[in-house]
Amino acid sequence: MNDIRDEVAAGFEEIHGRAPLGIWSAPGRVNLIGEHTDYNQGFVLPFAINRRTVVALGPRDDATIRVASAFADELASIELADLAPSRLDGWSAYPLGVAWALGQHGADLGAVPGVDIYIESTVPVGAGLSSSAAIESAVAIALDEVWRLGLDRQTLAKVGRLAENEAVGAPTGIMDQSASLLGREDHAVFLDCRSLQSELVELGFAEAGLELLIIDTGVSHSHATGGYAARRASCEAGAAAMGVSSLRDLTVDDLPRARTAMDDETFRRVRHVITENQRVLDTVAALRAEGPLAIGELLDASHVSMRDDFEISVPELDLAVETAQANGAIGARMTGGGFGGAAIALVPTEGVSRIQVAIDGAFAEHGFGQPTMFTVTAAGGASRDR
Ligand code: ADP
Ligand code: MG
Repeated sequence: MNDIRDEVAAGFEEIHGRAPLGIWSAPGRVNLIGEHTDYNQGFVLPFAINRRTVVALGPRDDATIRVASAFADELASIELADLAPSRLDGWSAYPLGVAWALGQHGADLGAVPGVDIYIESTVPVGAGLSSSAAIESAVAIALDEVWRLGLDRQTLAKVGRLAENEAVGAPTGIMDQSASLLGREDHAVFLDCRSLQSELVELGFAEAGLELLIIDTGVSHSHATGGYAARRASCEAGAAAMGVSSLRDLTVDDLPRARTAMDDETFRRVRHVITENQRVLDTVAALRAEGPLAIGELLDASHVSMRDDFEISVPELDLAVETAQANGAIGARMTGGGFGGAAIALVPTEGVSRIQVAIDGAFAEHGFGQPTMFTVTAAGGASRDR
């Protein structure tokens, strides 16, 4: 990590012609369990990972905000007073959208100084590890400090979500930003998406001799957006049929009644959300009582539910999960929105390379493209680093 901070400082100096005032960073995240529960006001259990987006920032004498990133060959520049979602697009809508969103949460964009920003990242983009939340959260804590706003981390998470919803135009929930801002080393963030209250839950992977392997299938399906919208609509229809405002209000005891209150497909969508919420609660309880060796079956059951009830898996994800399970994983599941993306496997350290070889072999045998695999650890949330 030390060298990326040096690189960011050097990159800032090269582009902006002076040294930065400081360096801030924020991590990507992986969701351990709790999928498609966020927009149903349910529970999620993500953790911040040891891949970060690093931001160098320096104030200016005028009211201009300029952002550059190693990710893109472009210096985006706009007057603070002109910041508006309709004027932002491309990658710079993430950092500039955060500046605009801070204005919506109390920053006086007519009074704060302009800033120069330079960004580098070790979070892979588009691999389901939320490079978007990492860039939003890193920019948010940097601007919060330099503009002396004093906003708490829950509010900064809302700022990141507002930027992503309005400036970028992606209808995402608050999980990613919460994990990136609230994470702690060796802990997951247990988040109630209704109250937005969160608790840290110790993971203890290393102590139990376990690692979390990410298997990025590289598959991104064109119907992901349509499929996501359809699932949300089914959840709303299911809640309406049960007379509740969201599926969060239902428990597994309501399943028999749900079965008779709606068509079979809607029922299966509802069953996924209800049982997934329960699995998050059970995972938290198991981690606290017994440690990570006890959560494997919950991860496995989550995958089956997404595959059969929510129907958001794809053959590549199923193969990754089944191969990991057959080669010694404690548990495995697809993670993220579905229709492609990544799977996770909780794996004994000594079995990691065997599982990777097995997955590579299985993918080749099925004629699937080679997946990208790497392990992650639970890291601290957004921080000022220099
Ligand atoms: P992810 O699953 O990685 O969050 P998204 O599509 O939500 O995927 O966000 C990725 C987008 O975020 C990129 O296409 C880019 O526009 C922006 N982004 C992420 N990291 C950076 C970065 N370091 N520099 C500039 N833009 C970034
Ligand atoms: Mg994202």
